[in-house]
Amino acid sequence: MSTFQAPKGTYDLIPPDSAKYLAVREAIAAPLKNSGYGYIETPGFENVELFSRGVGESTDIVSKEMYAFETKGGDKLALRPEGTASVLRAALEANLHKLGNLPVKLWYSGSYYRYERPQKGRYRHFSQVGAEAIGAEDPALDAELIILADQAYRSLGLSQFRILLNSLGDKECRPVYRDALQGFLRGLELDEDTRRRVEINPLRVLDDKRAVVQKQLVGAPLLRDYLCDACKAYHEEVRELLTGAGVAYQDDEKLVRGLDYYTRTTFEFVHDGLGSQSAVGGGGRYDGLSEMIGGPALPSVGWALGVDRTVLALEAEGIELELPATTSVFAVPLGEEARRVLFGLVTQLRRAGVATDFSYGGKGLKGAMKSANRSGARYALVAGERDLAEGVVQLKDMQSGEQSPVALDAVLDAVRERLA
Ligand code: AMP
Repeated sequence: MSTFQAPKGTYDLIPPDSAKYLAVREAIAAPLKNSGYGYIETPGFENVELFSRGVGESTDIVSKEMYAFETKGGDKLALRPEGTASVLRAALEANLHKLGNLPVKLWYSGSYYRYERPQKGRYRHFSQVGAEAIGAEDPALDAELIILADQAYRSLGLSQFRILLNSLGDKECRPVYRDALQGFLRGLELDEDTRRRVEINPLRVLDDKRAVVQKQLVGAPLLRDYLCDACKAYHEEVRELLTGAGVAYQDDEKLVRGLDYYTRTTFEFVHDGLGSQSAVGGGGRYDGLSEMIGGPALPSVGWALGVDRTVLALEAEGIELELPATTSVFAVPLGEEARRVLFGLVTQLRRAGVATDFSYGGKGLKGAMKSANRSGARYALVAGERDLAEGVVQLKDMQSGEQSPVALDAVLDAVRERLA
């Protein structure tokens, strides 16, 4: 061990487990790439104000969890705590919304930072794959995104997750509800922190996990009863499209999500094997966000799925991903000349697309065969002086132990044939 360790709340992805993370990212991205979403990458930090305006000053994410700092040049920046505000900022900056092709559909994958109290499934550095569909108000788009997330999880073999669905209303009906809820909450016995929240972000109080709070919330006005006709019809259409696609969901009137920008559709994917950090992904519609960050009105919808928690969900369900072996062939040279010849063969195999590795460091036969075993390679290429004198190398099947000589110029074909 060195003097240093990974900072609190972070961890390193190291082989072989890191392959799982790559596979999860790819599995989440695949349905998006297949549905008209283009890849976008934005910086790991942004002007802090993008998040305070976009995500919301009153949210925990901005008020407590943001890594905000001032640079030597006096810029006030923050490590990104989430992806939506950045992606929308970038889309507006590049005028993607003006190209006459709405919605602009984008997907992304990257690291996010929140100064949270670390625990299993909750880290200060974590990784998300996300999708945003910008500039269209269409219930089919909300449904599309939920269906694609469902497809991604199922493609990984996950089944013990549930989709929670709610509508948060829009700028017509939500303020009326907010007032009613505030009136109700002001009459409760709440601690000071929560009372403050009642004043700045009353919907978040519904989200409070504490039993003492939840007990008092029985009888609270429900947003469902305040939705305007347009929001009701929109939500009904999203629900019907999901049902039509065979995607099951549960209505959850208390689902408000931790970000201020959501309107209408909100949803969360929760996994039942994860304990308290059960949300594996979430998202919703954010019709007002563009204007909040100085852009034109652009109704949009998106989600972000947590890669770390998806990997934990796989473990909870006992799912072993079928990852292709990283190495198919491992070359074991015995002696100087063999080293040169086999190194040439390794290069040839690699150029032909065969995953190949080599025994480095002048190991003896025993040590080199151990490396071959550890590499997971199906075949070993072994050669010593005598083999070379005969113009062959030994091709050894690591599973059966069978070994046969192959002429040097026939190695590529022989390997290809066997791996096919
Ligand atoms: P959110 O935007 O907060 O709903 O985050 C979307 C998803 O990102 C969550 O459902 C989690 O899977 C993941 N996520 C959020 N915060 C963390 C964290 N601190 N550690 C690990 N994963 C997280």
